[in-house]
Amino acid sequence: MAEETIFSKIIRKEVPTEILYQDELVTAFRDIAPHAPTHILIIPNVLIPTVNDVEAEHELALGRLFTVARKLAADAGISESGYRLIMNCNRDSGQEVYHIHMHLLGGRPLGPLLA
Ligand code: 5GP
Repeated sequence: MAEETIFSKIIRKEVPTEILYQDELVTAFRDIAPHAPTHILIIPNVLIPTVNDVEAEHELALGRLFTVARKLAADAGISESGYRLIMNCNRDSGQEVYHIHMHLLGGRPLGPLLA
């Protein structure tokens, strides 16, 4: 059984966080330490620690991450200017929270991906 992170508490609204979107599959909220004017985390409600733990049964929730990213990008007014979606996996990527999450970043030129 995977260990819960702070993100499970956010999903259950046990810590004060502005929820930008929530349904039966996913939850979205602002990153606490934003790297861009828009920096939103979109996460499955089910605890999946890393991309290595993804199974076929997760496909619906993980697909929903993209439709919610698209909606939140539109809400933020960055659909046309553009944005970046990132999902880190394990140590070398810098993953800090072991509940997979999609970063939605935009609102400024983000520069080259590989620095
Ligand atoms: P990772 O490096 O794991 O891909 O990204 C984890 C992200 O979660 C970081 O950008 C970090 O700022 C954010 N984060 C960590 N703890 C919290 C929290 O309690 N609330 C919010 N809103 N974001 C958090």
